[in-house]
Amino acid sequence: MAALNKLPTQLIHHPYRPPTGFEGFPPAVHKASTVFFPSVHALRTQQWADKSGYTYGLHGTPTTFTLEERIATLEGGTHCVLVPSGLSAVSLIDMAFLRQGDELLLPDNAYGPGKAFAAGELAGWGISHRYYDAQNPADLAAKITPATRLVWLEAAGSVTLEFPDIPALVAVVSAANAGRERAIVTALDNTWGAGIAFQPFELGVDVSMQALTKYPSGGADVLMGSVVTRDDALHQQLLTCHMRLGLGVAANDAELVLRGLPSMALRYHAQDVSTRALAAWMAQQPAVAAVLHPALADSPGHAAWQRDAKGAACLFSAVFHESVAQAQIDAFCDSLRLFRLGWSWAGPVSLCAPYNVSAIRTTPWPHRGGLVRFAVGLEAVEDLQADLAQALAAVDLAKP
Ligand SMILES: *Cc1c(COP(=O)(O)O)cnc(C)c1O
Repeated sequence: MAALNKLPTQLIHHPYRPPTGFEGFPPAVHKASTVFFPSVHALRTQQWADKSGYTYGLHGTPTTFTLEERIATLEGGTHCVLVPSGLSAVSLIDMAFLRQGDELLLPDNAYGPGKAFAAGELAGWGISHRYYDAQNPADLAAKITPATRLVWLEAAGSVTLEFPDIPALVAVVSAANAGRERAIVTALDNTWGAGIAFQPFELGVDVSMQALTKYPSGGADVLMGSVVTRDDALHQQLLTCHMRLGLGVAANDAELVLRGLPSMALRYHAQDVSTRALAAWMAQQPAVAAVLHPALADSPGHAAWQRDAKGAACLFSAVFHESVAQAQIDAFCDSLRLFRLGWSWAGPVSLCAPYNVSAIRTTPWPHRGGLVRFAVGLEAVEDLQADLAQALAAVDLAKP
């Protein structure tokens, strides 16, 4: 190294190597676009797809491999790919498994932007989609055709929180697969269960995705998604599509999710307890016609939730009486102080958003009043209840 006498070269090709063997709890944050090869032979032969080596930053680093393995464990799977958002996990699954002429079946209560991807890009590429009623396995059976290639499931449904009978829906697809050359793939949006409430592969699904943005991060400070499988062939299809699309996640973002994972189960259960208390309180309020949360006996899918799940996420929705005007519901949301207005959930801060359910679903919706979805954070539950009470009173909705 004595030849390196020009300062810029010295600083770039610096000879110091710290001693190996350092150990601490947090995994190291490795950042690189370029990965160095020790020889031309290694450059030509090194493999990344089976995690036996490194070839390029986009194809994985020790940091992303570590996070992938932990997320696979969280969901009871064997393989994981990481993507820049939950929505890109949805679109990756669609793009990996669907080709021109194929049909996609989505639950009517699916995550909205996933529906928009089907109606926009997929339709433009000659891939059709139809909605089925997730609470009615016979409806799914009736909608499967020879063109069906992918069936999405979501537990609980977005906004309206119906809990589907996942084993019954999977059984419908298995029956349809008997004798088919190209099996229909089942994909679950497992953001709500998060790997904590139930193990998706034990309920029979082929692919499970999560918005790591929600519970695994827990900090409301990172966007990321994951796609987990137990099936080598399905994983290879996902990985190939992922590589060709050039998807990857930043090392600092992976670090944030790795940091959130150890406290995830504690946060999930703490938020579950607060959410159930607030849902029960909200159900007693005279302005409220119904509260939707799978643990409530009259919420759709309660029996399936009770059989298959060991917990519930931090979401509940309140449906107001038809007599309550939308302007009054909006004013109620505006009056909340601790519950902030905004999308996403499972972070420290409680959130709420009003929804017009009739505008986002095709199957009949039994309620006529406006709906507000609440995402309960980590604040003290007494303070959150007081916030709901003061906002109801502020817009004259506290009394019968
Ligand atoms: C938030 C969410 C997503 C998308 O995650 P992003 O990281 O925000 O793109 C997908 N599905 C469900 C059920 C979600 O709640």
